[in-house]
Amino acid sequence: MSSAPTPTDPAHSADDDAAAFADLGLRTELLKALSVLGYEEPTPIQREAIPPLLAGRDLLGQAATGTGKTAAFALPLLQRMPDDRSGGDPVSLVLVPTRELAVQVSEAFHRYGKDLGARVLPIYGGQPIGRQLRALDGGVDVVVATPGRALDHIARGTLRLGALATVVLDEADEMLDMGFAEDIEAILEHAPAGRQTVLFSATMPARIDGLARKHLTDPERIQIERERPVAGEAPRVRQSAYIVARAHKPAALGRVLDVESPTAAIVFCRSREEVDRLTETMNGRGYRAEALHGGMSQEQRDRVMGRLRAGTADLLVATDVAARGLDVEQLTHVVNYDVPSAPESYVHRIGRVGRAGREGVAITLAEPREHRMLKTIERVTGQRITVDKIPTVADLRTRRLELTQAALRESLLEDDLDPFRAIVESLTDEFDLVEVALAAVRLAHEATLPGTADEEEEIPQVAVRPAREPRPGYDGRDRRGGGRPRSGGTTQVFIGLGRRAGVRPQDLVGAITGETGVSGRDIGSIEIADRFSLVEVPYGVADEVIQGLRGSTIKGRKATVRRDRDGDGGGERRFDGDRRERRGRDGDGGERRERRDRW
Ligand code: AMP
Repeated sequence: MSSAPTPTDPAHSADDDAAAFADLGLRTELLKALSVLGYEEPTPIQREAIPPLLAGRDLLGQAATGTGKTAAFALPLLQRMPDDRSGGDPVSLVLVPTRELAVQVSEAFHRYGKDLGARVLPIYGGQPIGRQLRALDGGVDVVVATPGRALDHIARGTLRLGALATVVLDEADEMLDMGFAEDIEAILEHAPAGRQTVLFSATMPARIDGLARKHLTDPERIQIERERPVAGEAPRVRQSAYIVARAHKPAALGRVLDVESPTAAIVFCRSREEVDRLTETMNGRGYRAEALHGGMSQEQRDRVMGRLRAGTADLLVATDVAARGLDVEQLTHVVNYDVPSAPESYVHRIGRVGRAGREGVAITLAEPREHRMLKTIERVTGQRITVDKIPTVADLRTRRLELTQAALRESLLEDDLDPFRAIVESLTDEFDLVEVALAAVRLAHEATLPGTADEEEEIPQVAVRPAREPRPGYDGRDRRGGGRPRSGGTTQVFIGLGRRAGVRPQDLVGAITGETGVSGRDIGSIEIADRFSLVEVPYGVADEVIQGLRGSTIKGRKATVRRDRDGDGGGERRFDGDRRERRGRDGDGGERRERRDRW
């Protein structure tokens, strides 16, 4: 590939962005969509995966969420759609572990494939099947499905796989963890033999390797961690991360910056669109933020850099391409508004601070699902990223007082205070000296507060699970055999739907992982009785799980969800000793229960 454009190019433009993707062989309609989205260059996984996928090769990719893997497979699949799509059966099937991902991936297909007229349909458990039947009946090109629901439709004859050119298994390790192995095998058996098969997985345990060996033909292998020379190159900067839901990211960024009070900071975003949006948001919150991206002329960029150097701007919101080669002495903080798409990119970004012995801070805002990518970055850089709690309103107030105190101390040491002496002396005739000082401190403090200070709200903390190093299953061990850390203990969550409602373990796991930041492998044993289910989860995330499930449906129904009361002897349900069978009689002589430890 030709060398990537840099900010020193006299006229880097949206055309240059398109060129970077065009080099991969993508067609005009897709290039246009990417340009509208403001993607400036392919991520490493896209650079490596798109050409072989366009050529029809099978592919085995090791990549986690946040690497840009969805576009890596979606773009080639869209390009390979036949021009004549008068037949209504799908040409691509993407299997994903959760409903959340089904929706996300189909939205991505939709965004990229709009100009190609791609008809994309997500199908997952929990959504009324009638709507899915009608959509399937009307004809679709791409189906993005959770395995259980896909199999339901195949069995009904409503999802026909005869025209499939490509099957993608996305987050394959998660799907196996969730007990979908058999469903996946059954689906692949129904798919045409000559199809292209693509498998993406964040980890490559033996079971994934087995699946790949069985179903992929001479696959191209891609691993985004492959380039290791970055280890040791990363500068010594304080590195921390905050786990935060997407909706709370702007507020979290503001809070973290308020507490850190950087001299100057650069905030990295993935796309031009996000740069523009965030710049506007941060200006609205009282920061002096400037955008820097590849869609701007060199002159505009020079002006922005001038303002940053002169101290009339204190926040630079930028894309990777635009910030390449940038060296600003004042920079103290680098913020990754999203987890970078590859460890190399992380290292380049944080290299903007901590130069020449200066101190630097690197902060990453990660969505719950991107937690794993942080681990990958840690492993590749050999450096720790501390996951911190988002500062609370109380933390912020304390910090602001500290800053006022520091400013006063500085003033006491440096400033010529004589012009104010007369004021203090005349006030002390009337008031106590300390009272006068207090009033002055208050005025000084209030003058530093942004107009929004009274409206500060708590930002919800997302529970972070303990680090799993080494990860169970990473070395090929079967995860079901244990190895999951039990620190903090577990508790059971009661869900008022069971077998009679058609609930299966994967529905519960799907609902939990789809609605919360909890990963499939943090979920312990699942028991499904006729009318209720019990799911074992770590104590620390039980509330998050309960809230998430209360806000969603399982098998299309709302369920009662609460902490299991079995342990406290109260409640409407009673179990008998170790056998934990239901007391009382059902038609079939006691409620049937299915227990699947580690499903
Ligand atoms: P994924 O790893 O597929 O979940 O993608 C992570 C995020 O990166 C998504 O929000 C994408 O929209 C975004 N993204 C993917 N590829 C690019 C790119 N080349 N440039 C900018 N953003 C991208």
